[in-house]
Amino acid sequence: MTPNSVKIATNWLETAGLRPTRQRVSLAELLVGDGNHRHVTAESLYGSAQTEGAAVSLATVYNTLRAFCEAGVLQEITVDGSKSYFDTNTHDHPHFYWEDEGRLSDAPADQLVIQQLPDAPEGVEIASVDVVIRLRRV
Ligand SMILES: [Zn+2]
Repeated sequence: MTPNSVKIATNWLETAGLRPTRQRVSLAELLVGDGNHRHVTAESLYGSAQTEGAAVSLATVYNTLRAFCEAGVLQEITVDGSKSYFDTNTHDHPHFYWEDEGRLSDAPADQLVIQQLPDAPEGVEIASVDVVIRLRRV
């Protein structure tokens, strides 16, 4: 924790319209405090918080991640229908999923070409397209 990372975290929360409570600031710091994007799970963020000595429960981590998503500063990516990853980069971009490590990372967006999507059914529109490319060691 540095004064600068606290400042970045607090600004990020204010941008999201979220009150910078102590717990939110410490979790936001772990997410964006160094100015880099990252992908976390609730469990990995909870682990980082424990390492940093932040007094937060796993339930608080879950709730806070949900609040960050609802505020639009985090993007949730679901893998296998149940594993949730949270990405500080909220722009549309493809992901690699490393099956053996259970890790999500960004894939080069400029190499992805989607030529056509199926028509949306009547009465609905396509809200977003998630591209998760699963990787397996050879
Ligand atoms: Zn990403």
